[in-house]
Amino acid sequence: MSSSKRRLRPPLRVTGRIPPVEASGAPREFEVAIGEAIPAPEAFGASFEEMPASEGLELGAGLEGDPAVSFRRTLGMFATGVTVLTTRVAEQVHGMTANAFMSVSLSPPLVLISIDRRAKMGALLHEGTRFGVSVLEARQTDLSDRFAGRISDAVPEPTFEIVHETPLVEGALAHLVARVVRSYWGGDHSLFLGQVEFARYGEGRPLLFHGGRYERLTEDPRVFSSLPAELLDPILALGRERSYGDGDVIMTLGEPGDELMLVLEGSVRVRKPGLDVALGAGELMGEIEVLDPGGGRIADITAEGPVRCLAVSRESLLTALEADPRAAIALTEVLAARFRRTP
Ligand code: FAD
Repeated sequence: MSSSKRRLRPPLRVTGRIPPVEASGAPREFEVAIGEAIPAPEAFGASFEEMPASEGLELGAGLEGDPAVSFRRTLGMFATGVTVLTTRVAEQVHGMTANAFMSVSLSPPLVLISIDRRAKMGALLHEGTRFGVSVLEARQTDLSDRFAGRISDAVPEPTFEIVHETPLVEGALAHLVARVVRSYWGGDHSLFLGQVEFARYGEGRPLLFHGGRYERLTEDPRVFSSLPAELLDPILALGRERSYGDGDVIMTLGEPGDELMLVLEGSVRVRKPGLDVALGAGELMGEIEVLDPGGGRIADITAEGPVRCLAVSRESLLTALEADPRAAIALTEVLAARFRRTP
């Protein structure tokens, strides 16, 4: 996704690119292998007095097997957003994915992060250092994977923006810069309490993490995408391919439109009041309008880079529904379920 196009409140300071931390020539703190036990930072806050006694963990009925796995899975039921935490050492940036982020206080503005004691990040943070928090948007799973050490060639290099001398990941949904004011022992994690110096947010939907998987809010009006492939594929088979260049308008809010479109390749930006999201290959556009052509388009959609789409006219759609009424029935059921959920 082109991060530079997100509508975020402007930063207070300069914008620039920072090189990632290199494996060679990195400060000693970076030379930490995952799996190696590292002591937590020395500078603990005064609130920590002594390590709590280790007590047995009782698990509910049905949770047999490895207790650590059951405990982890239990915690995984708590849905969170996903952040990339960043910090800078000299001219080098280090980032890591974290969902253990929470708001603590509005006045003074405080947030808390929890870092595995084996993570490099923990060795870089101490009282007085700043860290950035970039709250990821629903489609930024690649960035989350990258900063969790799951790098694939397909993932583009992230770019950073410097605010309060702290790197922030470009294109995120919200940004914070905080200075560590206390750090605490947290078992196999270290807790860092940060006083927030900078905060801003843009429009969009957050990436969620739940049950060990990425998820996203599904209140967007998907209709055809809810159909099983066996019913959707014959409809899409009647589509015609169309290509767009960077910035080309694909749909305009309010204008008449009676086509359903599938993104085959590339990325499009969907904007309407209160919504600004990117859609990629495999996602559908114009699902509502093709069923209600008199109502006009419900969003502006533009191409971000070269885009290839499949356009299915309303006429072709009706032909497909006549050929297989099961698809028409399934659509009716999707819409009926939506009405049931509407307060
Ligand atoms: P590394 O593992 O060395 O770095 C992380 C990755 O980021 C590497 O692939 C590295 O190449 C890349 N990277 C770092 N800096 C840059 C840069 N400047 N440019 C480009 N790439 C860069 N762990 C926790 O401790 N707490 C949590 O709350 C937490 N939540 C998580 C939530 C999710 C959804 C996931 C997937 C993982 C989470 N983790 C969490 C695990 C954590 O993200 C990984 O263990 C991570 O690898 C720890 O990073 P590290 O500091 O040890 O550095």
